[in-house]
Amino acid sequence: KKITIAIDGHSSTGKSTVAKQIASHLGYTYVDSGAMYRAVTLFAMQNNFITKEAFNVNTLVENLHKIHIQFKFNKDLGFSEVYLNNKNIEKEIRTLNVSAFVSQVAAVPEVRYQLVKQQRKMGEDKGVVMDGRDIGTVVFPNAEVKIFMTASAEVRAQRRFDELVNRGDKVVFEDVLKNVKERDYIDSHRADSPLIKANDAIEIDNSSLTQEEQLHKILTIIQD
Ligand code: C5P
Repeated sequence: KKITIAIDGHSSTGKSTVAKQIASHLGYTYVDSGAMYRAVTLFAMQNNFITKEAFNVNTLVENLHKIHIQFKFNKDLGFSEVYLNNKNIEKEIRTLNVSAFVSQVAAVPEVRYQLVKQQRKMGEDKGVVMDGRDIGTVVFPNAEVKIFMTASAEVRAQRRFDELVNRGDKVVFEDVLKNVKERDYIDSHRADSPLIKANDAIEIDNSSLTQEEQLHKILTIIQD
């Protein structure tokens, strides 16, 4: 019988890496809910609704209906990539630029309402692994398995920094660390669906776990 697996936690805890591994292990669908908030943010940036100077929330909300987000499976990569209005934006949404604005966009209740609706639809048939901040608390409060991942801010920033450098982005470690801490703060303090561990979620601190150890731990939880 297929179940729903919710993986929440702080920024850059490696949620998506382990969620993808679990999904491919079980033959489930993986959904990266953060990519959807990043897609909305990219749209807002492209249309100048959000800049360093100002965030025009009302205009973004009025234009939300123009945003069409899809996930399309890439056979070569073995996972799905995110599309905004039929354009592959998988690489663009991972920049520090988008990361700098995404938590402000994710704090807008109308944005959350729209995306949560779409996420629930994607999970309708079960057999889904979804990662994010509010999956176990808001999107799928009845998920059979809920994991909450954490690690120290330094460990997380280092991982994100390595990732960005690996793909050729010019970034400074201090900026990445600052962004990780800033997003945690905004995500945990927003009024609508703040980042908190669901009561029935199992917490995993992976500061000193290898990817294999972590995968094994979660698969054991799922099999119980
Ligand atoms: O998971 P990722 O780091 O890509 O998410 C980017 C941002 O999107 C988070 O920092 C958070 O502000 C927002 N987010 C959210 N709820 C989710 C997933 C992501 O608010 N379910």
